[in-house]
Amino acid sequence: MRARTRWVSPGAAGRRGKVRGLRVVVHGMDEVEVVVVGAGQAGLSAAYHLRRSGFEPGGGFVVLDHAPAPGGAWQFRWPTLTYGRVHGMHALPGMELTGADPGRSSAEVIGEYFARYERRFELPVRRPVDVREVRDAGAEGRLLVRTSAGDWSARAVINATGTWERPFWPRIRGQELFRGRQLHTAGYPGPRDDAFVGRRVVVIGGGTSAVQHLLEVARVAQETVWVTRRPPVFREGPFDEEQGRAAVSLVEERVREGLPPRSVVSVTGLPMTEEMRRARADGVLVRRPMFTRITEDGVEWPDGSRFRADTLLWATGFRPVIDHLAPLRLREPGGGIRMEGTRSVRDPRVHLVGYGPSASTIGANRAGRAAVRDIRALLGASGAPAERGVEGAAAA
Ligand SMILES: Cc1cc2nc3c(=O)[nH]c(=O)nc-3n(C[C@H](O)[C@H](O)[C@H](O)COP(=O)(O)OP(=O)(O)OC[C@H]3O[C@@H](n4cnc5c(N)ncnc54)[C@H](O)[C@@H]3O)c2cc1C
Repeated sequence: MRARTRWVSPGAAGRRGKVRGLRVVVHGMDEVEVVVVGAGQAGLSAAYHLRRSGFEPGGGFVVLDHAPAPGGAWQFRWPTLTYGRVHGMHALPGMELTGADPGRSSAEVIGEYFARYERRFELPVRRPVDVREVRDAGAEGRLLVRTSAGDWSARAVINATGTWERPFWPRIRGQELFRGRQLHTAGYPGPRDDAFVGRRVVVIGGGTSAVQHLLEVARVAQETVWVTRRPPVFREGPFDEEQGRAAVSLVEERVREGLPPRSVVSVTGLPMTEEMRRARADGVLVRRPMFTRITEDGVEWPDGSRFRADTLLWATGFRPVIDHLAPLRLREPGGGIRMEGTRSVRDPRVHLVGYGPSASTIGANRAGRAAVRDIRALLGASGAPAERGVEGAAAA
C-alpha cells in the first residue's frame, strides 16, 4: 500500500523540507504536477480524470477552492432554485446523482452530491484556499500558484473558476441616479424579499435565469416588466444532440479567435415550458426592448415611454473569473483567451475548463477529460504517471 498524503500547512512542512508520502515540499513551497483551481463541476471532473490517469493526490495534483463548502457555485444559488427546476444538470463522471428530492434546493442537493463525490474518489480538495495569482515560476518550466495558504509550484494548471463571482452589470445612462434597489442574479434572494413583494419590478435579461426570476417575482409584485436586448428565441421541444453540438461550436469558434466567450445558453435559445406558456398568456412573459435611460424612479425608452420602478433585477449574466491569471498575459487584444480545445494557445501549461464552450455541466465534464489528456501529453515521458482506473486509484 502506498503512503497516504498527510496535509500539513505548507509553511510548517517547508521548514522540515521533507517528502511526505507523495507530497513534495521544496523551499517552503508545495511542488505538484498539476494544480486545479476551483472545485465546481469542471474542477471535479478534471480531478476525477487526473486520478483516473494515475496522478496521485499530493505530489501528483491538488485542487484549491476558496468557497467554504463543496458545491461550486451551486451552493450560492437562490433557495427557490429547487433541484427540480434545474435544467439539464449532468452528473459528474463516474457517479450518478440519483434519488434527489426535486423539491429541495439545488444548493443543498448538489452541495451534498459534490461532497460525496470528493470523498468517494478521495479527491484532494483544499478549502478555503484563495488562489491570488498564477505566474511563470521562471525556472524549470514551472508555474507559481500564489494562494492564501502559501505557494504551490506546478508543471500545469487547470483553471476551473467558473463565472459566478463576476456578475455582469451593463452600464446604462442614469444608473447611479436610481433611488430604488438594484440586484443581480448573483445576489437574488428569492421572490419573498422586500425588494419584490408589492413592488414594481423590472427584470432585465434574456436567459433562463431572467425568465425564472420574472415568473417568480410576478406572483408577488404589484407589476413587472421584462426587458431584453435582443428578441428572445423560444425553443419548442427537446434540444437534440446535433443542435447542442452546433450551439457549442458557435461558442468554440469565438474562443479559437481569442474573443470573449458568449454563454452557451445564449446560442441555445430558451426552452419553452408549460409555466412559461401560461405566463405568456397572462401577459407576464411579454418582452420589451432594452430601455436606454434610468431615472430616479424608473426606466425610460427612446420613444419617451416610461415605467416607474422600485426594483431593477439584472439577470444579465456573468463573465469568466480569470483575473488571477493576469500575470501570464493570456488575453488577446480582442479581450478573450485564445484556446485550442481547453489549452491556452499562449501558454500550453494552462488549461481552462468550464470556460466558454465548456461552461455547462456536460461541457465541464468533457473539458475535464480533454484537459487531462492534453496535460498527460504535455508532461510526456518525463512526468505523466501510468494510467489506471480511478476506483483502483481511490482504493490504493
Ligand atoms: C443560475 C445558473 C443556473 C445554471 N443552471 C445550469 C443547469 O441547469 N445546467 C447546466 O448544465 N448548467 C447550468 N449553469 C451553468 C453552470 O454554472 C455550469 O454548468 C457549471 O455548474 C459551472 O461549473 P464550474 O465548475 O465551471 O464553475 P463553478 O461551479 O462556479 O465553480 C468554480 C469554483 O471555483 C472557485 N474559485 C473561483 N475563483 C477562485 C480562486 N481565485 N481561488 C480558488 N477558488 C476559486 C469557486 O469557489 C467555485 O467553487 C447555470 C449557471 C447559472 C449562473
